[in-house]
Amino acid sequence: MVGLWALLLPMASLHRLNQHGRGDAAVEGRPKLLLVSFDGFRWDYIDRVPMPNFDTVMEDGVMVKQVENIYITKTFPNHYTLVTGLYAETHGVVANEMYDPVLNRSFSVDTDSRYEPQWWDEAVPLWVSIQNAGGRSGAAMWPGSDVKIRGQFPNQFLQYNASVPFETRVERIIQWFSAPKAEAVDFGVLYWEEPDESGHLLGPQSPLMDAVIAGIDEKLGFLINELKKAGIYEKVNLIVTSDHGMVQLSPDHIIELDEYVSRDLYTWVDKSPVVGIRPKEGKLDEVYSKLVDANPNMMVYKKENIPAHFHYQHNPRIMPILLEAKEGWTITQNRSETFMLGNHGNDNTLPSMHPVFIARGPAFRQNYVKTFMRSVDLYPLMCHILAIPALPNNGSLSNVKDLLSREPTPTPPSTRPPAGRDSYAPLVGALLGVAMVVGFLVVFVKQVTLKQLPTLTHRRREMSQPLLQ
Ligand SMILES: [Zn+2]
Repeated sequence: MVGLWALLLPMASLHRLNQHGRGDAAVEGRPKLLLVSFDGFRWDYIDRVPMPNFDTVMEDGVMVKQVENIYITKTFPNHYTLVTGLYAETHGVVANEMYDPVLNRSFSVDTDSRYEPQWWDEAVPLWVSIQNAGGRSGAAMWPGSDVKIRGQFPNQFLQYNASVPFETRVERIIQWFSAPKAEAVDFGVLYWEEPDESGHLLGPQSPLMDAVIAGIDEKLGFLINELKKAGIYEKVNLIVTSDHGMVQLSPDHIIELDEYVSRDLYTWVDKSPVVGIRPKEGKLDEVYSKLVDANPNMMVYKKENIPAHFHYQHNPRIMPILLEAKEGWTITQNRSETFMLGNHGNDNTLPSMHPVFIARGPAFRQNYVKTFMRSVDLYPLMCHILAIPALPNNGSLSNVKDLLSREPTPTPPSTRPPAGRDSYAPLVGALLGVAMVVGFLVVFVKQVTLKQLPTLTHRRREMSQPLLQ
């Protein structure tokens, strides 16, 4: 019986915390988690050069060989997925460059539009959720973490500035984690632009990439050392991953849209290798028919025909026509545009698009290799580690629970959100599910107690009190 009450009472306590902010008891026992992203770190880069620091984390913890990220395999959509567990069509950051026909506004990672909350408010990132649950968060340059999302910034954060060195970002993160108890963050996110930048410039096959990759291992070594110096290495759960991989391009593999369709007929919203095409008023069918069979190395979809497994359809920010270059090909309007030797964005089932994933810390198993996971599964895993309720999401803890050092206690199956914006059904479903489980447990406890402890009816009534509030 005591065991069952132990299960139920924390739910009541958590409810009170949500209502009234955090209390010292909550701060005391909160687990710590640091999520690190090295942008564009393809999963197999670790096999190219000696990576002593990556090896240490893997031997000490877990590694996942293939992480299937989300479509499109670009930076902003995938970073928002990591902290929400949602496909891009649901979290709303569908590309690095977007147009929203409802708002009649454009978004670009290169303009101040990236600070406008409306682009991010379709989802709740984990740093906001942990603050709502009474914890604290800190963010060093993670995409979106310097935006006031759902009315909140992270408790501690750095305004995005690419020129701030990795080491400075780490020092700030360490300060936030090791602050006095009332101020210390429980969840931190840390972002670094490499090896993505070099991957674009040099191409992933370039031998020059070896030094870049070795440099990332040194960065991880710096982080580990700083965590150790601060005396928190054994306490903090550390996840090192990325948003996507990188594929080699060739100047011989270029598709020029100008050969097929006049620029007067459309605006191109997002760029290669997945191009969002916004035809001019009344020109959709004309643009589509000019492009659909134009080039065998380019897939052309009307929005309603985008393959369902991409989960990339149900959002007004996804354009009426989508082009995707085959792996290794570039789509341009003409060759005068800047050409890159490496890129990403393609089909998320391609191994070349997959990111690295390693993790260690008290929550994780040791020396364990998992074959496959989906990046949407990371969010429920992180919520579990942080001991906060996960919001409806597209992932599942059960897919990744083998990464944990301790088997999670069974929870009701998570309710997945349907595609697209403005749906409250999943939330209602989740609330109903929780209500049913709590109701079931209350009835079950009542029955068992009545059977086994008939003389303690009065005491039982007292114990039930917090639940009924
Ligand atoms: Zn990139």
